[in-house]
Order: sequence, then structure tokens, then C-alpha cells
Amino acid sequence: MTFQDDFSHETRPVRVVFRPGAAVTATPGEAARLGLRRLLVVCGGRGEPVARAVADALGDACAGVHAEARMHVPVEDAVRAVAAVRAAGADGCVAVGGGSAIGLGKAIALRTGLPLIAVPSTYSGSEMTPVWGLTEHGSKRTGRDPVVQPRSVVYDPRLTLSLPVPLTVTSGVNALAHAVEALYAPDASPLISVMAEEGVRAMAEALPRLAADPKDLDARGRALYAAWLCGACLGATTMGLHHKVCHVLGGTSGLPHAETHTVVLPYALAYNAPAVPRALTVLRRALDAEDVPRALWELAGRLGAPRSLAELGLREGDVTSAANRVAGEPYANPRPMTVDGVRAVLRAAFEGVPPEPFQEAP
Ligand code: NAD
Repeated sequence: MTFQDDFSHETRPVRVVFRPGAAVTATPGEAARLGLRRLLVVCGGRGEPVARAVADALGDACAGVHAEARMHVPVEDAVRAVAAVRAAGADGCVAVGGGSAIGLGKAIALRTGLPLIAVPSTYSGSEMTPVWGLTEHGSKRTGRDPVVQPRSVVYDPRLTLSLPVPLTVTSGVNALAHAVEALYAPDASPLISVMAEEGVRAMAEALPRLAADPKDLDARGRALYAAWLCGACLGATTMGLHHKVCHVLGGTSGLPHAETHTVVLPYALAYNAPAVPRALTVLRRALDAEDVPRALWELAGRLGAPRSLAELGLREGDVTSAANRVAGEPYANPRPMTVDGVRAVLRAAFEGVPPEPFQEAP
């Protein structure tokens, strides 16, 4: 981004509280600030113990715990959660957990207009965005609506101490992907570039420390700080090829979210590289590496993350249909997304070969 480009930037009102222990010590105060008196706590099955601790801290302001969040928010889950909110007479929700729990909280907000507080336990970044997603009949719909943007985000690095190393790494790369695509988004701004660079630098520094010692609270804090920045980039910009490919692979082939982002990112960036020289300059600085797609691929390998879509269960025969689907939908991308170009990206990601420059798309 230079100052010969024009840009517009909108900052949405969201309060961020960041400190170890904040899930329990800060959430009640955030609810009170928003004037909320009866909050339904939503979480996934595995996150229930932490959610119960948050519920206990809320005391009389807790209207119940709804522990039914699942990946990609099936529509029937949203319907049940809205019924639970109404039955409890809740005036707001607290989502405690990863992108799935926050996604369910957003689905409730979308249908009821009730305010949401997010207490994230992964690096997905969803807490910083007005983006919602719902899955119905095997197809995932997403949209933007300011009503789903959490009003308050409580970052507690202690919550992430229990994240297993494989999920720490893939969730961290999921965050990196938001920053990478924000750097070449049509609605990027100088502020976004600063946040993206800092987010990439902080996450790339924290992940090797966490792979070596997942209980390192300082590195946990650094990764969560990076997730905040990268999530803010996602919330403010329009994503491109990488997110589109992951959306299709997750929604139609059922591939796991963070792992898919981890595998695809080096190839999507290698494809877009010729069209995004300024983004690459920023990323070279942040990662201290000349060949950025290769550096991302090596980082994933060094930290033991999956590196091929085949490992994630994609079938070879699905590569072409996924490529047709990605190229068939309109999407902002700095380089034209032809079927052949997307198929080449998916083919390389399927095999997990080192990322090489992709020829100009025909
Ligand atoms: P997730 O929320 O599904 O969590 C993955 C697994 O990790 C779950 O089994 C969960 O119980 C467990 N887990 C979460 N936190 C943990 C912790 N601290 N310790 C131990 N286990 C923990 O996965 P995710 O990657 O965070 O989120 C993926 C979902 O979020 C997808 O549906 C994706 O589409 C959505 N998402 C939405 C946005 C947005 O802006 N709307 C952004 C990113 C992701």
C-alpha cells in the first residue's frame, strides 16, 4: 500500500480485554458494562469445564450453559440454540471456545439481535469479525452483519494452555492466513498492513516456542495477541483465493478447518505471488525469509503440521470438482482464478510438494 492508493477504513466498536485469567475475572465486568443481566454461555462439548467456570463467575447473571457448539454451525444447532436463549429469557450470550463456539454465538446474534461477548480459546480470529457461517444440506453459507460482531472480546492466554500442539500450530497458521490475504485485499489500508505485519511476525515467533513448550504462558500470550491482530485483519477486509479454497474444501469435502488452512496457504500465496509484490515485501520482513511460500511450508513441516490435502482425507478425484467450484464463484483475488490455475494450486496442495511459482494462468 502506498499513499498514491486511496483507501477507506472502518473501525467497528469492540472492547478488548487481555490478561491471563481474564475469562473468569473480566467476563462478569464486561457483561455489566454492556448492561446485560441474563447471559446464556455457549460452548462445545470439550470446552464445557471452562465455560462452567465462566458461568460460575457470572453468578446470578448466568442464565445457563448451552454446550452444543459444533464445527461449521449446522442450521439445526442454531435453531436449538435460539430456542435455548428464548427459554432462558437471556438478554445476551457469552461464547467460550474456538471458532465453532463463537460461530454458534454469532448465529444466535444473527437471529435474535442479542449482544455477544467472546472468550476465544483458539487462534481462529472469529471473535474480531462480523462474519457468520451456517451449514445446511452439506453447503456452508457465510455473510457479514455487524450484529454478530462480538461487543466485547476477553482474551485469556491461560485458556489456550490446554490447546494441543497440533491444533496450536494449525490454528496459528489459520490466523496467519487472514493476515496474508488482508495484505492484498481490495479493501486493505495502511493500518491493516501494520496489523498484518505485526500479527505474522508475532505468530511466527510464538509457534516454534509453543511447539517446544506448550505451557509457555508468555508465548501463549504472544500467539493470542497475534490472533487478535490477524482476526482484526480478517474482519476489516475481503479475503481471496486462499479462503475461498478452504471454504469449499471444508464445506463440501468436510476437511478440518485449521489443518486445511495450514496445507493450502503456501500454494495459494505462491499462485498470487506475481500479482502482489508489496504484500510479499511486508511478509519477507515479518518472516525474515526471501521465499515466503517456501518459508510457510517449511514452518508447517518443522512444527509437525500436515502438509498435504491427501493426508487430510481429500480424494484425488475431488481435486477437479473443487477447482471448478472455486473458479466458478465470483471472488476478489489479485490474480484471475481460472479453473486450470486453481486446479494447479489444489493439485500441488493435494500432493504436498514444495511450493513453486505457478505459471501465468491461461
Ligand atoms: P473449533 O472451535 O472447532 O475447535 C477445534 C477443537 O479444539 C474442538 O474440538 C474444540 O473443542 C477444541 N478446543 C478449542 N479450544 C481448546 C483449548 N483451549 N484447549 C483444548 N481444546 C480446545 O476450531 P477453530 O479452528 O477454532 O474454529 C473453526 C470454525 O470457526 C470453523 O467453523 C470456521 O469456519 C470458523 N471460523 C469463522 C471465522 C469468522 O470470522 N466467522 C473465522 C475463523 C474461523
